[in-house]
Amino acid sequence: MKKGAVLGIFAHPDDESFGPGGTLVRCAHEGLDVHVCTVTDGAAGTTDPDCWKCLDGYSDLAQRRVEELACAVDILGGTLHFLGYRDSGMQGSESNFQPEALINQPLESVTGRLTELIRQLRPDVIVTHDETGGYSHPDHIYVHRAVVEAFRAAGDPTRFPEQLTGRLAVWSPQALYCHVIPRKYIRYLALILRLSGQNPARFGQNQDIDLTRIGQPADQIHVRVDVRKVLSLKQQASACHGSQGGGSGLGLNSGVSLRERLIVRLRRWFNTREHFQQLHPEPTGRRSGFLF
Ligand SMILES: [Zn+2]
Repeated sequence: MKKGAVLGIFAHPDDESFGPGGTLVRCAHEGLDVHVCTVTDGAAGTTDPDCWKCLDGYSDLAQRRVEELACAVDILGGTLHFLGYRDSGMQGSESNFQPEALINQPLESVTGRLTELIRQLRPDVIVTHDETGGYSHPDHIYVHRAVVEAFRAAGDPTRFPEQLTGRLAVWSPQALYCHVIPRKYIRYLALILRLSGQNPARFGQNQDIDLTRIGQPADQIHVRVDVRKVLSLKQQASACHGSQGGGSGLGLNSGVSLRERLIVRLRRWFNTREHFQQLHPEPTGRRSGFLF
């Protein structure tokens, strides 16, 4: 018999692995049911004009990313739930204006679908993005808002009562956590980039992440989970996301320059410990440990 269940709700294919993948593996190894809900299709996951080369036989990027996601969730030991909204792209991109983009959907309707999933799966713990979206991605911020709403709504019989006429009943999960990136880590990374003459405001495969504006302060980090023992599985899951540079280490080759070696070390440190902000119940302090 399972000990309990965790539901991770993320915006894109890869957020589950590049984010709290180690914690999800640890949950599976502890005998917990692990569910991953991915809200969008990841269709805007590149700004590379030569992206057709990376389709690798698939008809479009979304199709490839959904298969990458299935590969990753399988390695993490989870069950996948896919909502299929369109990826809205980074802030300011053309994808923001697609009518089907997630950020252009009514929050209430996405909240309703997540509420139904929570009532169906009855998880004890929910994990999602933080209110800043980690690196300000509009879909991450939107998913955070929808999850916070659904977390409250699932236990409230006056919210989405049409779901309660059949086999579903109200359900109140015990805890809600946000996966966060420590500001300390981001500051080290920005410093390394600056010292090597790179602009930390234009970071990432698509140069659309501004490191000077992101990272969670230490007083908002409540749980640190050590994932060293399951790191290889987290890396295998990340490697499934080949279209997003998974398995190649921040999209950089681990070469011999001082900058590259420093980034590899920093990434190793970051990957072996996952950090969470506790939104519910009210946190009582900081702890190293686990989500249950
Ligand atoms: Zn994402």
